[in-house]
Amino acid sequence: MAFIGLGNMGGPMAANLVKAGVDVWGYDVVPSAMETARANGVQVVEDPLEAVPRADVVLTMLPSGQHVISAYQDSPGLLSAAGPGTIFLDCSTINISEAQQAAELAQAAGFRAADAPVSGGVVGAEAGTLAFMVGASAEVFAEVEPLLDIMGARAIHCGGNGLGQAAKICNNMILGVTQIAVGEAFVLGEKLGLTHQALYDVVSKASGQCWAVTTNCPVPGPVPSSPANRDYQPGFAGALMAKDLNLAANALDEQGVRAQLGRLATAIYTEFAAGEGAGQDFSAIINTIREDSQHQSSGPENSSAPLAKDTT
Ligand code: NAD
Repeated sequence: MAFIGLGNMGGPMAANLVKAGVDVWGYDVVPSAMETARANGVQVVEDPLEAVPRADVVLTMLPSGQHVISAYQDSPGLLSAAGPGTIFLDCSTINISEAQQAAELAQAAGFRAADAPVSGGVVGAEAGTLAFMVGASAEVFAEVEPLLDIMGARAIHCGGNGLGQAAKICNNMILGVTQIAVGEAFVLGEKLGLTHQALYDVVSKASGQCWAVTTNCPVPGPVPSSPANRDYQPGFAGALMAKDLNLAANALDEQGVRAQLGRLATAIYTEFAAGEGAGQDFSAIINTIREDSQHQSSGPENSSAPLAKDTT
């Protein structure tokens, strides 16, 4: 197979394929990424068009939809070099409309296509425990599933082309909203005199229970593996959450969905990622909430939260 984009995610994913005995030809525009991949057994090529004709599957793991579309079609693109029956498998996180466009380009050139964005981050990519959300025909899903099973722990067929991306951004919109809600609740608890542990013990077993509390608890202590215990090193960086929420906001606009909380979470994380939050785990949003709350006097006249005022 050909693997295009050997960065933080693609590098370890390609390495896991090699470990499982798959022949992987790899390409990245950055020489250091190619060197690391070579050390992991990937057969690196100086020109991606050398890799594609030998591949039954061309996997892309690139920063954005424009990178994917441009890699597919720009002069000359990956589509121009592929052999009959090739599957174009894009694992990047991109706009649903761009995923559909990429699939249409591949299909118009006579190939098959799937979008299979991932969750699980760099840790999951290294451990081979990613979750893939796949948009493809049932036939294409069945063909790519064995490869996805090497790189991940779960591959879920979500429907036709673009619906893998749809599932990913719906999930991450819930995640963004809940992580903010959990941060707000813990800051309120602090002000009310609750210890973090007491609030955790209640919420983790009560109806407020969610991943943002039980795995990504935003305060140090209750969940020792959460990023809050290591000064909010990601984890899942604020910049990536802002990216995914902006993809969700694009879909909300395209589909005409009201989604006030999803849009507010997008604004909050976009502002967070414009500053030092970009490189911190997204659970560090609690620190912004706490800081803003220090300048906030009490009383019903202040019931409109400063974050909401600043970011809408
Ligand atoms: P990254 O920036 O580390 O890797 C992307 C790689 O693509 C880079 O090495 C870059 O040099 C390369 N590249 C760019 N244009 C290229 C081209 N035309 N041909 C070949 N290589 C090219 O990013 P990443 O963290 O690996 O993320 C990749 C994708 O996975 C993104 O869409 C991201 O949103 C998604 N994702 C990332 C994470 C995460 O935790 N990092 C989690 C889930 C999903």
